[in-house]
Amino acid sequence: LGRRINAAVSNLNREPNLDEKAFDAMIKEICSALLSADVNVRLVKNLRKSIQSAVNFKDLPPNTTSNGKKRMIQQAVFEHLVQLVDPHAEPYKPKKGRSNVIMMVGLQGAGKTTTCTKLARYYAARGFKACLVCADTFRAGAYDQLKQNATKAKIPYYGSLTQTDPAVVAAEGVGRFKKEKFEVIIVDTSGRHKQEADLFQEMIFVQNAIKPDQTIMVLDGTIGQAAEAQSAAFKATADFGALIITKTDGGAAGGGAIAAAAATHTPIIFLGTGEHLADLERFDARSFISKLLGYGDMSGLIEQIQTLTRESAGMKETQKHLSEGIFTIRDMKEQITNIMKMGPLSKIGSMIPGMSGLMQGMSDEDGTEKLKRMVYIFDSMTAKELDSDGKILISQPSRMVRIACGSGTSVREVEELLTQHKVMASVAKNMGQQKKNMAKANSML
Ligand code: GDP
Ligand code: MG
Repeated sequence: LGRRINAAVSNLNREPNLDEKAFDAMIKEICSALLSADVNVRLVKNLRKSIQSAVNFKDLPPNTTSNGKKRMIQQAVFEHLVQLVDPHAEPYKPKKGRSNVIMMVGLQGAGKTTTCTKLARYYAARGFKACLVCADTFRAGAYDQLKQNATKAKIPYYGSLTQTDPAVVAAEGVGRFKKEKFEVIIVDTSGRHKQEADLFQEMIFVQNAIKPDQTIMVLDGTIGQAAEAQSAAFKATADFGALIITKTDGGAAGGGAIAAAAATHTPIIFLGTGEHLADLERFDARSFISKLLGYGDMSGLIEQIQTLTRESAGMKETQKHLSEGIFTIRDMKEQITNIMKMGPLSKIGSMIPGMSGLMQGMSDEDGTEKLKRMVYIFDSMTAKELDSDGKILISQPSRMVRIACGSGTSVREVEELLTQHKVMASVAKNMGQQKKNMAKANSML
């Protein structure tokens, strides 16, 4: 999607006199790219109107450059999409020293049970006394699944193999944990394959029985256009106050998440980014949209680095590599060390694809610490490793262990760095390909 939008905007460059016709054609292309990313038709129509009024050619100073217009259009698309996923409603925040009851709702397979445990773990890691209650008496094995996850995450849990009324189990579990002064009590509920009357009835019974402080809808991020209707139907019944979008790791286009947030005027609070219990990311509207648009903008970053490090020989090499679509670990090292000279991290981190997630919710201090540890890891690599695409490390775990020991970090951190590198390298490759295509197209003219 990002590539298509960027390409549409780039095409403007070839228009010597950027006129309204070219502008309209570009907006059309952007809209069709958004539609193919599952952003729904009505939202795209609104976006179109909003860009057209934000970028009014007649009101622009006559000397506005084509680049200046390009930037305005990109900015308008970006801001509009950010507005859609940012409903300006504050989600409930659990408070320490009291019981916060959180109820999860959503269709079967959306990721509720997995996300419950992720969330409990998230709060436990932040000093909350957290626990889980299984109120899914509908699906056989639901309690076992929750037990297994909870045990893995060392989170206390409650459930019943004999009680079939979910409202009763929920009330029992919540009652017990409240007495034991648990601070975050997360209640997993059952789903159905479809939005059936039974499911909604059950949700209301459970909600009335436990009076949750927050109800969260868990929505499968891969369902695309269906997200709007599904979230709206749940909202009408269970009136949730927050959304968690799961399976965002599978290359889902992201339009579904936008539609759900926009249709229900409800904030997205977390993204599920994988099957592991640690795969939960705080949601940030700006970084979500910049990733969606592919604006985790390498070119912007490179520009900024260029002005700061014109003299650095290493950066020259990196730029040459980038223009060829190559991105070695050494290139990553050059970028990270340069970023550290640039600060403030919160701004800059979000400009690198794959880095925004890494630094999300971190203070500048924590972010700097993280980057420092990455540099220790780079410093423990051999020249051969640095100049590689990372595969020799991934295929030889003993190298990772050696690097982790040498740098005083952990294998997990080395792995994480390699994952970041992979993301950055794939962006670089796309950029290289785009440049090649452009050169080819130009030479054919
Ligand atoms: P529930 O029926 O809503 O409770 O859904 P589950 O928690 O049982 O999850 C259904 C499936 O989705 C399981 O195989 C999970 O491992 C998987 N899943 C949940 N969240 C994510 C996620 O963020 N990413 C990926 N890739 N898989 C997920
Ligand atoms: Mg479940």
